[in-house]
Amino acid sequence: MTAAAFHLDDNDPRHSIPADLAPCRDCLRELFDPADRRHRYPFISCADCGPRAAIAEQVPGDRAHATTARFLMCPACAGEYTDPDSRRHRCASLACPDCGPRLSWYGTETGDPLDTAVRALRRGGIVAVKGVAGYQLLCVADREEPVRALRVAKGRPAKPFAVLVADLAAARRSAVVPPEAALLLYSPRRPTVLLRRGAEDGFAMAVAPDLPEIGLALPQSPLQHLLLAELGRPLVLTAGRREGQGAITEEEVAVRELGPRCAGVLSHDLPIALGQDDSVARLVRRRPMLLRRGRGHTPEPLPLPYLAPEPVLALGSRSDHTVCLALGESAVLGPHHGALEAMPPFTALHRSAELLCHQFGVAPKVFAHDLHPRHPSTLHALRRPSARRIAVQHHHAHLAATAAEHRVRAPFLGLAYDEIALGDDGTLWGGELLLCDYTGYRRLGRFGHAPLPGGPSAVRHPAQMALGYLAGSEMLGSARPTLPLTKAFLSRFPPGRLAAVRRMVRERPGPVTSSVARLFDAVASLLGIRDENGYPGEALLHLEHAAARYGRAPALPWRLVRRDDLHVVDPVPTLRAVLAQAQHRPVGEVAARFHSTVAEVSAAMLAKAARRTGVWRICLGGSVFQNRLLTETLLDLLAEGGYQACVGSLAPVNDGGLSYGQAVVASARLAAE
Ligand SMILES: [Zn+2]
Ligand SMILES: [Zn+2]
Repeated sequence: MTAAAFHLDDNDPRHSIPADLAPCRDCLRELFDPADRRHRYPFISCADCGPRAAIAEQVPGDRAHATTARFLMCPACAGEYTDPDSRRHRCASLACPDCGPRLSWYGTETGDPLDTAVRALRRGGIVAVKGVAGYQLLCVADREEPVRALRVAKGRPAKPFAVLVADLAAARRSAVVPPEAALLLYSPRRPTVLLRRGAEDGFAMAVAPDLPEIGLALPQSPLQHLLLAELGRPLVLTAGRREGQGAITEEEVAVRELGPRCAGVLSHDLPIALGQDDSVARLVRRRPMLLRRGRGHTPEPLPLPYLAPEPVLALGSRSDHTVCLALGESAVLGPHHGALEAMPPFTALHRSAELLCHQFGVAPKVFAHDLHPRHPSTLHALRRPSARRIAVQHHHAHLAATAAEHRVRAPFLGLAYDEIALGDDGTLWGGELLLCDYTGYRRLGRFGHAPLPGGPSAVRHPAQMALGYLAGSEMLGSARPTLPLTKAFLSRFPPGRLAAVRRMVRERPGPVTSSVARLFDAVASLLGIRDENGYPGEALLHLEHAAARYGRAPALPWRLVRRDDLHVVDPVPTLRAVLAQAQHRPVGEVAARFHSTVAEVSAAMLAKAARRTGVWRICLGGSVFQNRLLTETLLDLLAEGGYQACVGSLAPVNDGGLSYGQAVVASARLAAE
């Protein structure tokens, strides 16, 4: 699929609500035309553009079922609405300054809401703005203090921010924008696109510290166009919501929670029915890959390989949580809201499920959830004793999501490289080769086990993982690296910590993991790139960026063995080579060679499985495949080998797409009964 193929589907209107689209060219011309009756009106739209999902209270999201219904149309608007020749014929979001929604401002300063907000931004203030699908926090992107203040206000010390720029020309001044990326940036779905930073992008350092990549977005609403036109400079843009909670859609909540952290709140009186974040995309092999599916995509349907005999609600994962509704021939993936809270009542999960079911007018009696008995999705499903529960293994769900999105015929081979999640043998999976169909799987291969020193919290501490591999990686026939190879690495830690990790591995081994995300973490720490994950995936991201400059480098030694009828990747020879190379070669070069090694050993493992099973269709899933260098290298190798391979594109490969996979598997099982 090419960037252009992010097309607007023509779906069964009974089951679908269109996505929110950025203002079209005609509406923009009117917005800036002093003679037009909608000149500078922030709610201008037409039948081809404007909010849809955000205002749809129920399917099919026409005006009668939209939050705009509470605005009585003036005679001029009513004329356009009923005129079949008008651009605004039957437009759900139709409005004008006489009859439609209006801006308001909450802050110490008074005056015209838009002008006051612009003045506050220009002075370096943070302003909360009611966006298409939720309140967002904005500040100017070209000064350090406002961006640092935004980091404090948002409680986000390091994770990169996205930047809103006026047009493609401005994007090209700040980043390298290949043609496919330009198409994606400019598409009416308006995702934030991750791009290589230009030499002098003019943004504050605090926007994306230490990263060669920047997320850029073009204006997604008339209001953003007006703000940028007035300011004439780029803006940092981030969701106002807290981690693990849904988008803020209520004015009262925004004023209460965001108001005290801002110069003011720029609000309006058009209610938001479906709150969500902006979509985030990256180009992989010049094709778009959604890292977060949000505004512009949600709640448009995704394909199901089997008709769901009855509605199924899939309850998703713990991190990057979403829910998904399987309805007839398609599935609706709901809004993303980050990691769930650690303990019940899982309010965000509950609300998000209620909202989606309400919007689509269904009350499902079948729930798909994780294999783990204490997983939030399982606990939530258990709250409805009369309901039917279908448990789906995490990595099978990832692979089913990729396969269903690309309409892959079963059986297929799946490579799930991911964070840790419970497997069917009691260990924590995350580096698996599975022979799949849509109802089940057989495990054919895995990565060698490593201990998680201190338990699952080790995912936050790459150094802990590295020490774990050195002290207790699975014995598969190669000797673990020892002194003097490990000297430089170990000397970075106090002796007490080393002894503590060795003791943990020896005395409280706990469940072991085959997770590739943990192996990448360990290598990031061995190379001195990151010892801690300040946010999920931080070490992995920085390892990839260190490697990116070197591209597809020669692989390091690797080893593939057979254990209990499984192909097992023994990571130890590779770790030994990483340590040896790091003594005299640049860190980035070793990181690049490590990426090539994982791609090469994966292709070798797949080749063995393909010969054994006669299956040549391959699906990649799991958060590790957000890594462009690894994914591109592996897809290149597989293409050279004659395989048909695909990776998640419209359904995120990370846990944001997991509920879709759960819905796919559950409906396939129902259909098979
Ligand atoms: Zn329009
Ligand atoms: Zn009107």
